[in-house]
Amino acid sequence: MKIEKSKIGNAYYYPLSQLKEMGFDVEKYPYSIKILIENVLRNLDGEKITEEDLEVIAGWKTGKDFAFSPTRVIMQDYTGVPLLVDLAAMRSELQRRGKDPSRVNPRLPSDLVIDHSVQVDYFGTEYSLSLNMRREFERNEERYKFLKWAQGAFTNLRIVPPGNGIIHQVNLEFLSKVVDLREHKGVLTAFPEIVIGTDSHTTMADGIGVLAWGVGGLEAEAVMLGEPYYMTVPEVVGVRLTGEVREGVTPTDVVLYITETLRRKGVVGKFVEFFGPALSHLSVPDRATIGNMAPEYGATVGYFPIDDQTLNYLRATDRDAKMVGEYAKAQGIFYGVEPKYTDVVNIDLSDVEPSLAGPRNPDERVPLRKMAELKTGNKKGKKIADGSVVLASITSCTNTSNPTVMLGAGILARKAVAMGLRSMNYVKTSMAPGSPIVVKYLNEAGLTPYLEALGFHVVGFGCTTCIGNAGPLPSEVEEDLKQGIEGYAVISGNRNFEGRINPLLKGTYLASPILVVAYALAGRININFENEPLGIDPNGKPVYLKDVWPSMKEISSYLTLALNPKFYSEQKGRIFDGDENWKQLPVEGGLTFAWDPKSTYIVEPPWFKESSEFKEIRNARILMMLGDKVTTDHISPAGPIAKDSDAAKYLEERGARELNTYGARRGNHEVMLRGGFANPKVKNILVNSEGGFTVHYPDGTVDTVYKVAMRYKSEGVPLVIFAGKQYGTGSSRDWAAKVTALLGVRAVIAESFERIHRSNLVAMGVIPVEADWKSLNLKGNEIVDVELDEMKPRTTVTIRVRGETERTLKGIARIDTRTELEYVRHGNILNYVFKRVMQD
Ligand code: SF4
Repeated sequence: MKIEKSKIGNAYYYPLSQLKEMGFDVEKYPYSIKILIENVLRNLDGEKITEEDLEVIAGWKTGKDFAFSPTRVIMQDYTGVPLLVDLAAMRSELQRRGKDPSRVNPRLPSDLVIDHSVQVDYFGTEYSLSLNMRREFERNEERYKFLKWAQGAFTNLRIVPPGNGIIHQVNLEFLSKVVDLREHKGVLTAFPEIVIGTDSHTTMADGIGVLAWGVGGLEAEAVMLGEPYYMTVPEVVGVRLTGEVREGVTPTDVVLYITETLRRKGVVGKFVEFFGPALSHLSVPDRATIGNMAPEYGATVGYFPIDDQTLNYLRATDRDAKMVGEYAKAQGIFYGVEPKYTDVVNIDLSDVEPSLAGPRNPDERVPLRKMAELKTGNKKGKKIADGSVVLASITSCTNTSNPTVMLGAGILARKAVAMGLRSMNYVKTSMAPGSPIVVKYLNEAGLTPYLEALGFHVVGFGCTTCIGNAGPLPSEVEEDLKQGIEGYAVISGNRNFEGRINPLLKGTYLASPILVVAYALAGRININFENEPLGIDPNGKPVYLKDVWPSMKEISSYLTLALNPKFYSEQKGRIFDGDENWKQLPVEGGLTFAWDPKSTYIVEPPWFKESSEFKEIRNARILMMLGDKVTTDHISPAGPIAKDSDAAKYLEERGARELNTYGARRGNHEVMLRGGFANPKVKNILVNSEGGFTVHYPDGTVDTVYKVAMRYKSEGVPLVIFAGKQYGTGSSRDWAAKVTALLGVRAVIAESFERIHRSNLVAMGVIPVEADWKSLNLKGNEIVDVELDEMKPRTTVTIRVRGETERTLKGIARIDTRTELEYVRHGNILNYVFKRVMQD
């Protein structure tokens, strides 16, 4: 197949127009699909990306699989640390084998933003930011030393140190190019960016015209190391936007409305693309707020095509708009014709009204006017009463990236302070912008002192409350909550699942930063803002929400301050620098990391030391028998490490100062291994109880899953797990597959698998077998063989079970592609890549 290139300026590009001669008329395809096609066309090599892939995507054959090559990877520290630990381990192993460790580097430009670890220990004062950062460095010293080493050791990897912002806002404001220019096949080439991130809200960059979404850590690791990304050609739901938002309605209200509408429609596993006459009224920050919440409305992406608004934003943030515009127009991906979509949803923006979402789900939208209907008890504690708002936080990149709502919060604060109002003294207030730019424009607008007068001092430039790092509430408030008083949070975040923000709370409502400030003043969740005052001024006069609400005209008068290219060019020069805490961290190691045997956070994983070739599964024992919908959090929990657990014992023996969470300890496989199936909610049918317990056969001893698995390992016995439907649902978590492999499990036999967990299991060399196994009437003490009929994708499997009688059953090995088969042959994807690096 001959692929043509054309020129644009001094760069080449791969025009989509040539596809017509190949029999594909892509002109009216959704813009997001065109971007995928360009990628396959450009990267076609006949090996990893084939003509078949091109036919599948250029024909927009929904439901079929194809491979492509993302252009950039972005990570946050929770998910990025384990990934970089794997790369560091690869370097150490190369050195041990006498090879040059510097062969291991990300092959794609990759960025890691350290944003998830800062907690709100201090609030409501000028020193909150510096003390929170100091505590952050104390808590995370071992992880940060490792990341600082990685910053210097790897090429193609940039680390954004703590205090510089939140991953998606940094991506939006600084890292995204929209159309990139790179040497490709020997010549300078222009192409649209496709970014995958190890964080579900990577979709925020869809707002600036970058096709972006979140993936599992193992998938990202493979892509970073030069493997293609495999996906199923998606259906694309077009959302036709019409009308204009009314006065008093914020971009947060718009996204909550869209989330509710699309959740009802059902867009899970699909691309969503926005189009229609109202598109031109939506600025890039408004689009980014909407793109951010794609996981909440269930879509893979929430894409906004490139148009004049995109170019305006690129100019305002000191980036190359000219090339982006010329390329997009030449390539037919500049918004113009309305594409043909799989399905269309109509949304009239003039229908949107001020709202919140809660108390437990982001799609539970409640109009502001109906909040007064919320039923609360009437108990009174020492400090608070039922219905008190005890936490008000301006948090989350979803909203802190949006100057309209941030300036609006500042204006409301200014008016409230002018009228003598103050936040209620039982409310924990905080503001954690996703970028220092926010502080610059709030200062320039003169609004910072008013926010601070109401307790909204900057507490950090990171995820804080949004990820559940809100820190403790004041002790008197906690006391009351523990006595059963019903307290609430109002935050400008995107998720409010039970227990996420604070387990003592009755509920959490998501709202715009403007409403967050209003609720801090009111201090009550079911206030009727129409006829109840927000507060009483010092002279006894009532002040209502309408008296302090910022008008769109007032907000607009400040908006140009927020889009000042000078701010962005200054900040761009510093985002990789880090503060004094970062500068003072010592770097240990050179080409390879100096693993500290005393570290309880960063430990060299065993992937390359243990034999990894594929072996037949014979004489296996059943480690666990599980029901339906076992989640990745059941398999590998992320929350706090329980005091009496195997992981706690391991850490205490090593003198760890605090147990911390499994999430923070993902750089230590010994902790993660002991945490396998340690979720107190996991139910193993073999022992008929909850918690991470199972039974060892033939002797029948019951012990923790970790201890039983290690006994089997010492006896040389391979293991299998039987499970029900949708095994591995929940958020994508590579450790759920890694821990399964480390426990010695060779196959999971389930009625069905969640998509990403299935592929993660294969990547770790564990065979997912789909079979209706209940007819086997297992007792649990049987011996199991799993025989693959052939080494080919989706081959038939014979499951032979020997107990009192011998029974057999057929299943399907869900190794779906040739490449996945290669991963299994080599033991796992890490060894597959390692062997390739060895041969390079
Ligand atoms: Fe995710 Fe919230 Fe952090 Fe943004 S602020 S990256 S949405 S946790």
